[in-house]
Amino acid sequence: MNEKIQKAAEMIRQYDGPGLRIMEVCGTHTHEIFRLGIRNMLPENIRLISGPGCPVCVTPVGYIDEALMLALEKGCTIATFGDLVRVPGSEMSLADARAKGAKIEMVYSPLDAEKYAEEHPEEQVVFLSVGFETTTPASCLAVRNARKAGIPNFAILTANKTMDNAYRALRGSADAFLYPGHVSTITGTGIYHELMREGISGVVCGFTGPEVITALAVILKKTEEGRPFFVNCYPRVVTEEGSASGREIIRSTMEPVDAEWRGLGIIPSSGLALRGEFEDWDARKKFDLPEIKGHGNPACRCGEVLQGKCRPDQCPVFGRACTPEHPVGACMVSGEGACSAYYKYDFNR
Ligand code: SF4
Repeated sequence: MNEKIQKAAEMIRQYDGPGLRIMEVCGTHTHEIFRLGIRNMLPENIRLISGPGCPVCVTPVGYIDEALMLALEKGCTIATFGDLVRVPGSEMSLADARAKGAKIEMVYSPLDAEKYAEEHPEEQVVFLSVGFETTTPASCLAVRNARKAGIPNFAILTANKTMDNAYRALRGSADAFLYPGHVSTITGTGIYHELMREGISGVVCGFTGPEVITALAVILKKTEEGRPFFVNCYPRVVTEEGSASGREIIRSTMEPVDAEWRGLGIIPSSGLALRGEFEDWDARKKFDLPEIKGHGNPACRCGEVLQGKCRPDQCPVFGRACTPEHPVGACMVSGEGACSAYYKYDFNR
């Protein structure tokens, strides 16, 4: 650790100001902060809260139910990332549906799913498109490719989300945000200046130990000044402009819609759906899905965990009925989820 980082770490250890709630928005931050042991160096009056930046965790139960209906009633092949398969729906998970004969294909990207559809013209393939600004461009690209190549048996079920209005919805849950490094590479930092003008503070943070320590020290220093702030603490990767091409492919393929977030309810204009010109590749329209209101396990407190109102280990079924092998809620399934991080690193504070 160089001298500058040691000084920053010391500043954090010695912090004796008023209680500070810092929300790490990104699931990768949650896991890296645990893995690096950074929580152990924090004094009692700094509280790190795990926020809603894990796409699997914030996807509502009703979305899993829609995927189940496509698989079991409409006869579609579901192409998806691995984590979503184990997330419980209202009655069962996609893994349970597979045991009942549903066809579930694991893929590593939407383009893999589109390729699978091209190679299996006899199947109706639906890709489960969840994710934030970082992964959404690939879903848009897959749909555009399918249209260009004339692949009629491919569609996506969108649950894509954007983060800016989620920060607004969560402003009362934290004094400052550790903004996600990956999402910010697409959005750029303009949005954070806008949030600062609205009174919301935060810093963009990288993923190495020195980057996280620096970001936390900057939050302490800026908080002392008593004004809303924004600082880009990840300038080697995140720029003011972000990725114009990434944003353009999203803008020209999808449009903003109100979206349900697990635990947070409906957040206006925080979701993305395919534009009308792509409706032949929109699974909801193509298969005429009804509106489905899912209901999660009443014991699960994922919703409160995602808002920082409850620590995972305060959930009554944490580590008992709910474990990574037998997850009750999405936050225990996903490799980026707060409950799985608490379980893996055996953290109890
Ligand atoms: Fe939900 Fe399990 Fe987390 Fe409890 S421990 S909040 S049941 S995911």
